[in-house]
Amino acid sequence: MKNERNLFQKCCHYREPLNEDHRHYINELKYNNCVLCVSEWCGPLTQDVISKYLGLSKMRICQIERIALKKMKKRIVKLTD
Ligand SMILES: [Zn+2]
Repeated sequence: MKNERNLFQKCCHYREPLNEDHRHYINELKYNNCVLCVSEWCGPLTQDVISKYLGLSKMRICQIERIALKKMKKRIVKLTD
């Protein structure tokens, strides 16, 4: 992890810790349960760490990553045409 977050530092995205139904929820109170905070404070994470935070299997994280990369590649190709 790049920067260890100060426990008393507040999330700049949401006022209250997020609940499990929120799309940016992550199972880590230290980061106000906010996936955006994790990404800002920790930088790139391994698939293993992400799978633990999100409660998904490593295989599922790998699938989501592949789908996201495919979508980004498609957009880049569109932009450069
Ligand atoms: Zn946040």
